[in-house]
Amino acid sequence: MGNDNNSRRDFLLTGLLAAGAVAGCTSKKNPFEGYANGDVTASGETVKLLSVDGEVIEMDKAFLKPVPDLPHPSNSEERKGIAGKKFVMVIDLSRCKNVGACKKACNHAHQLNPDQNWIKVLSMQEAEHTAPYWEPTTCMHCDEPPCVKVCPVDATFKREDGIVLIDSDRCIGCRFCMAACPYSARVFNWEEPKLTEEVAAQPYSCETSVPQKKGTVSKCDFCPDMARMGELPHCVTACPNGVFAFGDLNEDSVTNGSETFRFSDLIRDKAGYRLMDDLGTKPSVYYLPPASRNFPYESGLEKDSSGQISTSK
Ligand code: SF4
Ligand code: SF4
Repeated sequence: MGNDNNSRRDFLLTGLLAAGAVAGCTSKKNPFEGYANGDVTASGETVKLLSVDGEVIEMDKAFLKPVPDLPHPSNSEERKGIAGKKFVMVIDLSRCKNVGACKKACNHAHQLNPDQNWIKVLSMQEAEHTAPYWEPTTCMHCDEPPCVKVCPVDATFKREDGIVLIDSDRCIGCRFCMAACPYSARVFNWEEPKLTEEVAAQPYSCETSVPQKKGTVSKCDFCPDMARMGELPHCVTACPNGVFAFGDLNEDSVTNGSETFRFSDLIRDKAGYRLMDDLGTKPSVYYLPPASRNFPYESGLEKDSSGQISTSK
């Protein structure tokens, strides 16, 4: 029985590396020193945690381990993607008021030039007498991406987790991909990007998409660097109205940060659809129709106090 308890405790310690950081163990010196010396004793203070097996468990705080700094993924790991995942996004048009917070957060995180937007919020009206609505668009992260098929240098690629990325170190700026994309999701860096010193000094990563480079193409990347840390894309967390929900198709779950939904129920119950599905591109972005809105369609909310459309933080 004692051995069983010990091995269960050891298992939990192994499985709770991530939980340790969440619980605030931030010692940078040598986070595992106490364990190596065998001198960790129970503190009597417990926390409830979700184990790697999905079990809710209670642990003494003293037995939590902090997460060591993870090494930066290599270029081949970035091209492979996150194992076992299939990322999807749901955009609820009934909630969008075009306040522009998604664009601001995205532009800031990816250091886009002021005239560029990866997210476009379009004013839509299907026909005369029908109600106008706002439609945010991103890269659709197509399962059959025409952009990838035309790239002559393999600079744009689809990963195992479904995310379509661009490697700016390979991109030769031919713009074939821009012509091939039916969603006009891609933008060209005509100008030298205006980067802060700190960002310019960062090593380039196709997961962060920074630093941007003149003469290359860029687009919404679904923030795979955030997904690697178990966090949501910047647009999702910035939107005050919960328009964007992001998640994993394999887990059948998406969240906007405050509400979590079963993806299949949401799409079925709210009549979800994909843009230009008949093209066979198989987008990973789904839309919920702009029905039952509890606010009027109005413009101007995306502007700052001076009346300008603010595109960066
Ligand atoms: S612009 Fe860059 S990413 Fe697009 S097709 Fe040409 S090389 Fe590939
Ligand atoms: S939306 Fe356009 S850029 Fe994005 S994956 Fe599809 S074809 Fe490629």
